[in-house]
This record gives sequence, C-alpha cells and structure tokens, in this order.
Amino acid sequence: MKAARWHARGDVRVEEVPEPTPAPDELIVRVEWCGICGTDLEEYREGPITIPVARPHPRRNTLAPIALGHEVVGRVAVAAEDGSGPPVGTRVVPDVVIGCGECRWCLRHQEGLCPELAVRGQTEDGGLATFMAARARTCLVVPDGVSAEEAALVEPASVAVRALAKAGSVAGASVAVVGGGTIGQLVARVATALGAARVTVIDPVADRLDLARRHGAIGLTPAEAESSQDEADVAVEASGSPTALPLAVRLTRRGGTTVALGIAPEPVMVDRIDLVLKEKHLVGSAAHLWDDDSAVALDLIVRGRVPVADLISHRIPLDDVVGGIRLLDSADLGVLKVLVDCA
Ligand SMILES: [Zn+2]
Ligand SMILES: [Zn+2]
Repeated sequence: MKAARWHARGDVRVEEVPEPTPAPDELIVRVEWCGICGTDLEEYREGPITIPVARPHPRRNTLAPIALGHEVVGRVAVAAEDGSGPPVGTRVVPDVVIGCGECRWCLRHQEGLCPELAVRGQTEDGGLATFMAARARTCLVVPDGVSAEEAALVEPASVAVRALAKAGSVAGASVAVVGGGTIGQLVARVATALGAARVTVIDPVADRLDLARRHGAIGLTPAEAESSQDEADVAVEASGSPTALPLAVRLTRRGGTTVALGIAPEPVMVDRIDLVLKEKHLVGSAAHLWDDDSAVALDLIVRGRVPVADLISHRIPLDDVVGGIRLLDSADLGVLKVLVDCA
C-alpha cells in the first residue's frame, strides 16, 4: 500500500509500505480522506516533536519513519478479530489517542494526559495511507447523511468541543475566539451550536472574518478587539501567534476563562495583575477523547448544527502530500483545511 511517511525534518515521502497488521482488538480502516493538520506541518518544518527518532516509543515500540495523519475517515476493511467494534464496510472515524490504560490519568479517562501517550499519525502510523489500524471499540460510526469529507472534520471539531468544555457550559455566554483558521472557525461554530449568546472571531485576515460573519459571529481585527471594551465570559486562543494568548487573557471578563489551544515553542508574556486581580482562569486544552469530545463533534456535524463543508479549501491526491503540507505553510491565507484523497 501507499503511505506518506515522515523520515526526518523536511523529508516526507509517499512510498510503498507493507499493510498494517492489526492486534486482536484492532480493525483495519481503508482510508477515504485524511486532513492535514498544523501538527503535521510542525513535524515537517521543525520535527521531530512527538515522532520517536532516537529511541522507540516506550510502550508501542514504534520508530520513524511514521505515516502521518490523524484526521481520518474510512471504511472498515478488516474487522477486529476479537469481535469488538463495527463490521466490514462500516464508515468510521477512528480514534487516534492511545493511553497506557494503567496510569493515574488513564484510570480517570484522561488518556490524553498519559505520560506514555501514543497517537496514531504522530508516534505511530496514521491515516495518510491506504490502510490504517485502529482500536475497534473506540471507532465512531459515521451515519448516513454526512459525507466522508465532512466526517474528516470530526477530529478538528472535537478539538473545539473539548476547548469549550474546559469553560463549563457556554450556553448564554459570550465567547471570543482569537484566531480565525480552521480550528478558530470550528470553535466559533461549536460555541454557537451550544447556545453561546455572542461569538466574536478575531483575526487580521478579512476573508476569515467574513467567513465567521457568515456563520453568525462578530468579526474583529486584533486592533479592533484591543480597543473594544467588550469582554467575554470565555476567550479561546486558537492561533499560536505570540500575541494571541495575551490578547485572549485580556479579553476575558473578571472571573472568566481563557482556553489556550495554539502551540508554539516561544514563551509568551501574560499580564499578571490582570490575571490575578480579576481572578481569571487560564487553562490549556489538548488531546480529545473519542467519546467525550469526538462523539459530540460528530453528532453536531451530523445534525447540521456545525456545518463544516465550507472549511475544506483544498483536496489533493495522496501522492501530493508534501505539496499539501507546503500549502499549509504558505502565506496564502485562503488555505483552511487541506484534505488528502487516500482512496
Ligand atoms: Zn489535527
Ligand atoms: Zn496512561
């Protein structure tokens, strides 16, 4: 089969590799679509970040080259030997998060915090390939009525679901989202779907603000947001730019919550007087869980509460993965979600 494998920084190759061998509780997915994520770009540009290179992954024993891709949808090609999970032919969104199952975090169903966390497409083979293995029991079944392309957005939408859940309920709340890329737009749409009274998207790019406005949000440039007196109950930083987190904290009302999503290596400065005296909550949000977050995201998409089709800006063949990664890296701000056709 074909797979797009990370060999080293700046070296991703589409090549012939053996098909995956499933464990008894795993099924094999024939991948239809796989999104390219900012994380894939980070590994290409600055990696290895989570890809095991010098030493194999402590629990899974995996080592580069690794097939990238964790925003996956496809059909079950081989069902799990132990009988768990859906039968052959079922369209699924496979779970990519693998905890050890034994540590204090895994025992509390916080697998994303596992010190020996494994992630398909990062620490072991993912979905930028013809076939991918996945734990059968935690695959989400995609119902009829939603396209495979839309289902490929379940994983990024689940990032938005989890981020907002960090603030408790957003029903009736005002939500500000700093960053209008794919994740920022999804946070805004999920907030609206969950009953937020007012949603504001902050981004310097006019097209992104227009896109947010078409879905009922207020669009502001960072300068406009800086000078506005409006504060939000919840401010989500979904940009990764060094100025985004300080802005998100500042836009958070007294006692409100700032959720940090964007990652970048450099530290940022936050106004401590503002944070401490106004008793703001500052919390990070990272890996999502298949049931708490991804199932909710799938349901919002299936019911049409969170439309995602207009976030897909590019569709490319698997052979062009490197071009797709470079597209994300380009200054072309019209790039939102790049989907790779793996079928
Ligand atoms: Zn992703
Ligand atoms: Zn664990």
